[in-house]
Amino acid sequence: MDEQQTAAIVGRGNDQGARLFREWFEGLGETAEREDPAAYVFVMGSMAELLRVFDLPMVFPEINSLQTAVRRVAHEYLNEAEDYGYSTDICGYVKADVAVQLRGGAHPMGRIPRPAMAVLTNACNTYIKWAEIWERMYQVPVFTLDIPGTRAVSTQTWPGDRDFENDRAYVSAQIKELIALCERVTGKKFDIDKLRESMAHANTMSRGLKRVLELNRSRPSLFNAVTDGTIYLGVSNAFRGAEKGARYFDNLVEEMEFKAAHGIGTLTDEKYRLIFVGVPCYPIFRRFNELFTEWGGTFVNSTYLWFAAGGANSGFEYDLNRPLESLAEGTLISVRDAMDSMFYQDQVLARMIDPFHVDGVVYHPIKSCRTVSTGLADNRRALMASRDIASLFIESDMMDRRVVSEAQLKNRVDAFFEGLASRRITATQIV
Ligand code: SF4
Repeated sequence: MDEQQTAAIVGRGNDQGARLFREWFEGLGETAEREDPAAYVFVMGSMAELLRVFDLPMVFPEINSLQTAVRRVAHEYLNEAEDYGYSTDICGYVKADVAVQLRGGAHPMGRIPRPAMAVLTNACNTYIKWAEIWERMYQVPVFTLDIPGTRAVSTQTWPGDRDFENDRAYVSAQIKELIALCERVTGKKFDIDKLRESMAHANTMSRGLKRVLELNRSRPSLFNAVTDGTIYLGVSNAFRGAEKGARYFDNLVEEMEFKAAHGIGTLTDEKYRLIFVGVPCYPIFRRFNELFTEWGGTFVNSTYLWFAAGGANSGFEYDLNRPLESLAEGTLISVRDAMDSMFYQDQVLARMIDPFHVDGVVYHPIKSCRTVSTGLADNRRALMASRDIASLFIESDMMDRRVVSEAQLKNRVDAFFEGLASRRITATQIV
């Protein structure tokens, strides 16, 4: 293996991702300076492809909020929002964003522009109440895209089915209303060729992310779904529909294929392959991951990479010959998939276990996000009933360091790995 080539390619995705993120925040800062219009959007159904047609810079408040935790200042923002009157109980992302707004957009990575409009889906109920805050603060239009979810797992419908086509027509009509709103807010006319262009970039990104996820079936695994995966997710959302995003994922696929071909793993000595369920513990992000890697454990996949990927994980590709119809179809399939990865989690996980050669499943319910955490205990029971797989259930938070106890987490994680080691010995004896 050529050492120079290896040094140039391995780790490139993380470096480029960090650089793109810095650039993205700088761009937001410039938008704020110019007081230009920006759209506030969410990861589950951002409609980025469409908003790019109107040159609307996108602000992802969920990403801004998690960045305050990664930079270890979330508690300052949470305290400020709580002093203002927000309950300790509600989503930490909302409170950090409220404090950012109260500070006139001041954020550890730059300045966040004010919204000119907000676009949300019903994928999380908090989105709806969160957007109402901006509506009250700034009197801006809020557009709620209502996406019909899966009624029950056995009645999932697909293009061509009567129910699916009805749902698609419903989403299509809403997209037309959203186009009219964007035209009003920006004063620009809708351009279908520009939409085709951003959809083509989104196609490249979806293809890329799907391939990257599949490649992590390799042994050893090529990337850590919790740490590296969060960088990929960030690019997948913030650059969705952009040429830079498409190039990033082409490069990332190249890096992962190179690592797979040369057996370069994310750990030098991979002992246990895990799936992560929930949202990461951002207040001690690096340390949280080390609790697992110190035992030779790595996360080969996560539900986070499903529900927070803006639909790119599924690999859905738009039909550029019928862009509007296909945008409705893709939005319906992607947002529904994000909801399914929460409601039908046990089935999603059961499908991952064999292809990813999984030794254990780590559930991480958090105080701040009820949407993702509610029902995890039941989901775990359902998975354990269907598969003989080790699991760990640890609770902390994605934002609030007051409910993160590293010592307690470590005790539980250590016991989990001791259990995994004995399972392995027992399995060898049975064979
Ligand atoms: S409740 Fe969870 S899914 Fe909803 S906005 Fe907050 S962090 Fe996101």
